[in-house]
Amino acid sequence: MDFAGTSARALAAAATVLTLLSGCVVVTSGGFEDPPRLPGNPGDGFGATGAPVSPEEANRTAESALTDVERFWSTAYPRLADGAAFQPVRGGHHPYTRNDPPPACGDAPGEYQPNAFYCPAGDFIAWDAEVLLPQLHQDFGALLTGVVLAHEYGHGVQARLGVTDQPTVVLEQQADCYAGAWVADVIAGRSTGFAAPSAQQLDDTVAGILQLRDEPGTSATNPQAHGNAFDRIRAFQDGVERGAGRCAEYDAQNLPITEVPFTSAQEAATGGDLPYAQTVELLGTDVQEYWARAYPRIAGGAAWAPLRIVPFDGAAPDCAGRTAPDGAGSLDGQAFYCASGGFVAFDDTRLGPALHQRIGDNALGMLLGGLFAQAAQERRGGSSTDRDGRLTTDCLAGTWTNDLLRRGPDSDVRLSPGDLDEAVTALLTLGRSAQNASAGAFDRIAEFRDGTLEGLPACVS
Ligand SMILES: [Zn+2]
Repeated sequence: MDFAGTSARALAAAATVLTLLSGCVVVTSGGFEDPPRLPGNPGDGFGATGAPVSPEEANRTAESALTDVERFWSTAYPRLADGAAFQPVRGGHHPYTRNDPPPACGDAPGEYQPNAFYCPAGDFIAWDAEVLLPQLHQDFGALLTGVVLAHEYGHGVQARLGVTDQPTVVLEQQADCYAGAWVADVIAGRSTGFAAPSAQQLDDTVAGILQLRDEPGTSATNPQAHGNAFDRIRAFQDGVERGAGRCAEYDAQNLPITEVPFTSAQEAATGGDLPYAQTVELLGTDVQEYWARAYPRIAGGAAWAPLRIVPFDGAAPDCAGRTAPDGAGSLDGQAFYCASGGFVAFDDTRLGPALHQRIGDNALGMLLGGLFAQAAQERRGGSSTDRDGRLTTDCLAGTWTNDLLRRGPDSDVRLSPGDLDEAVTALLTLGRSAQNASAGAFDRIAEFRDGTLEGLPACVS
């Protein structure tokens, strides 16, 4: 979040530890950041089995995934290649460790990196069996191993199709999309290596992809750019929902890429995060102004009655008909919409600061935006708790982000690099924290994205 003209000292963002190297995927430079957790819910981690995964187990998962990805492409590839048969990688599969580094790739010597990659010169796939894959498996589940290798295989498919003259960010998102197309096959029960995932496993996998993002502020034209998490998850879900044929259509002209570089040294220094109190103030004002403009468009011209924002310390204000953003779960009591009182309330001493500190300023935007969207949805006579209503509410929340993305440089508030990733992280965190959520984070993120990219027409017919 950036506030035009501010000179306030901003808090440091919780730094991501992932950095990008050549090759592909990602490198960890000191272990994974703790996943953001809401106060009072120490057990709400992301998919971690907790048990360490040995290199042998990681390799078994990897080989099983690659066998299945090759099965997938034997069917899918001919449709993209005028009937030509799929040829698996000629150079094979190469797990490597510090003591047993990967083969050389063309002129590049084989050096250990905590990474996974496809080598075009040798037409092989290699992965770090010592750190990266065991860690991803342990933290996010086995399916993420499959997604990482399916992504790498996607680069092999690009090489076979002769599609390599696109910007890196397009090729990377196309590979994410191909990985999603493979996951759709797994979901459909056709995989030889993986059982159809539960909603929870799918959410864990999305949480893992979130960790595989570029660092905030990476320009989309950076030759190494993979895309921010918002874009990568969009590409992945595109593949899940629409298949490999859709992925093959990606090019620099038709791909909506939201990744933006920092616009000032100050923004880069703060990670684009505003201080907590200023964030609440600015976003609270902005979301109110937004719904005053937007609500009449979805409510037959009816005016928006101002919704008070009531931050509270410990004891929540009384309300007869209050509902939490997820209907039930750990947010109940910490943040809710009070229809009868005409206000939204949130815990200003624990929940708000925790979201801000652990995810970033736009996590507060998601909290407030979600509550306002819930109010808009209920005021227009819709449900915000059944599955369809829940998803419409997430879409409506995205429309405010859509509005923020369209702001010019003179606007009081606009989004900065990392804000969309914070939005997705917040959705995943808030969505997962609910005990009885009617929709999983995977579907909720998809709806939020539609609202973000297309605005109100995407949510309300
Ligand atoms: Zn890649």
